[in-house]
Amino acid sequence: MPELRQDIVTGSWVVIATDRALRPTDFSKVRAAEPETGDCPFDPGHETMTPLEVAAIRHDDTEPNSPGWQVRVVPNKFPAFEAGERVEESSAMFPRRAADGSHEVIIHTPDHEKSLATMTVEEVTLILRVYRHRYRANSENPDVRYIHIIVNHGRESGASLEHSHSQLFGVPLVPALVQQELAGASWHHKSKGECVFCRILREELDAGVRIVGETDGFVALAPFASRMPFEVWLVPRLHQESLDMISDGRLEDFAQILKGVLGRYREKFDDPPYNYYIHSAPCDGLNYEYYHWHLEMFPKLTTLGGFELGTSMMINVTTPEHAAAFLGSGLET
Ligand SMILES: [Zn+2]
Ligand SMILES: [Zn+2]
Ligand SMILES: [Zn+2]
Repeated sequence: MPELRQDIVTGSWVVIATDRALRPTDFSKVRAAEPETGDCPFDPGHETMTPLEVAAIRHDDTEPNSPGWQVRVVPNKFPAFEAGERVEESSAMFPRRAADGSHEVIIHTPDHEKSLATMTVEEVTLILRVYRHRYRANSENPDVRYIHIIVNHGRESGASLEHSHSQLFGVPLVPALVQQELAGASWHHKSKGECVFCRILREELDAGVRIVGETDGFVALAPFASRMPFEVWLVPRLHQESLDMISDGRLEDFAQILKGVLGRYREKFDDPPYNYYIHSAPCDGLNYEYYHWHLEMFPKLTTLGGFELGTSMMINVTTPEHAAAFLGSGLET
């Protein structure tokens, strides 16, 4: 049963989720053999190998938990956050709380071999439509204060299954990095009278040296203080605080630029492991009009060492200007 523990020196929260160690690949230094395609729990025909689906885009004449789906959402079998957890009593010295919340898996496609970079824009659009749907559904959960959607692609990035999927974490608190962004955005809005992300977009488009690609609705840029080599942010041009506000028309545009940059990673680094995640306003009922949602992504080309782990200060060996030139040349968006 997962629980949250707080470090009383730094105030940082940690999720202790020992069941997740039951996943076959954890703690294994040796690269575990991929399951044979026939054993994959995300393949059509294997719906009984996962918990019951909570949502799906499927053909009209098909039943839940049977083949015929295009995108399928199931609770995570080894959740980091779960409803109704009860933990031992908290104390001043050992603060702890239940890891209440939710943890879902969004299976992108019935096709074991496809990835976001090799799907059609229409297929990626369906996945992003499901993101919006699950974001809205989970924000109704009173235990959930922040929703974090991620993709880990490739074993080295943390994926425990090869079959293309996203994860949605419904977190009962606002994580530290998100709080930092909220504090910075709020300060900028109060003192400068505008959204800091809208300002970044305007200045970056003027400067032009860190732009990776553009569509009508989105800008892909290598951020000025990139923490990782070839880090890219996808920022909607329209000021919106959270992902659930995206319109139908913009979903396809979002799919196009996401697939475009992932295609570049695939082409330039030979299908590298990568991570992406979406930063969006908390869903705790407070006002976050000053915030501006976005997606952050990077290929997993380096490993964090003692300096980075001990200081939270990254050493990036590639300039974002180089990254933008290298990734952006010829990006078809
Ligand atoms: Zn599969
Ligand atoms: Zn903005
Ligand atoms: Zn962010």
